[in-house]
Amino acid sequence: MECDKCSRDAVMHAAYSGAHLCEDHFCASVEKRVRRRIREDSMLPRDATPENPQTWVIGLSGGKDSVVLTHILDETFGRDPRIELIALTIHEGIEGYRDKSVDACVELADDIDIRHEVVSYEEEFGVRMDNVVEKDPENMAACAYCGVFRRDLLERFADEFGADKLLTGHNLDDEAQTALMNFLEGDVKQVAKHFDASIGDFDKRRDAGEFIPRAKPLRDIPEKEVALYAHLKNLPAHITECPHSSEAYRGEIQQLLLKLEENHPGTRHSIMAGYEELAELTAREYRGENGGDGSVDLNDCERCGSKTASTVCRKCRLIESIEAV
Ligand code: SF4
Repeated sequence: MECDKCSRDAVMHAAYSGAHLCEDHFCASVEKRVRRRIREDSMLPRDATPENPQTWVIGLSGGKDSVVLTHILDETFGRDPRIELIALTIHEGIEGYRDKSVDACVELADDIDIRHEVVSYEEEFGVRMDNVVEKDPENMAACAYCGVFRRDLLERFADEFGADKLLTGHNLDDEAQTALMNFLEGDVKQVAKHFDASIGDFDKRRDAGEFIPRAKPLRDIPEKEVALYAHLKNLPAHITECPHSSEAYRGEIQQLLLKLEENHPGTRHSIMAGYEELAELTAREYRGENGGDGSVDLNDCERCGSKTASTVCRKCRLIESIEAV
């Protein structure tokens, strides 16, 4: 099949748009959609100047998504004096897995010459995921512990580096899966957080200016296209799956969505279009803009000082229960 835009062979066909594209036009299309998302989300404020630059911290895991995100951001803004890019890698302490992906991160950061920081659960919390999985004091999936620890470190270090934005490599499939999971679990507060994540939280952290806005510039790009882009650009992505990956429910939703997408191309895009509208409506309701009062008063965690709705934050409670075993 020929590319729709030139006479070269197409390397991909997107059923949701009907497009057939060659390597060059496919890569250009991915980059264009990422840049459009950055523009539409107003990620770069008008008052950013070389004298008043923005700091964007990128969560770089070494997987294809964050590697593609870092590469495209560097291609787009690498020589823009209004933006400083910092890559932040979290080492969870997973033997034979994370060391290789950290190598991929180091290689990429060296190639494009951006500041790269690596922080570990072991140094920051005194735990390694391999041991957490063995102890499992809360009888939970590995990812439930890991997600709490990762979020804490991403936010804490992004804050320490003076980040104006915290960017992650979530793609369209990730986002549509999360949307469907929140909906099927009836978790309306999580739906609202999808909207607020980009502009602040509906809890008091937003008012206190303690929330670093999140951004997901790849959220319009299907997972397969991210993988193809990484392959065509020969990026140093690490593709092995984590041995503790345990999100069985997400796996079921992923299979369901793939089937729906196959039978009804465009399903992921339409889920996200509706979800974003719903998220904005519910976020406004929680903030009290429609007469409701869903805002949450936050305290400083007694142990680490981070913001929490109770006296001790979830991360500190988890570490305590791991240490007690
Ligand atoms: Fe952590 Fe789960 Fe990701 Fe493994 S798959 S790194 S346990 S969140």
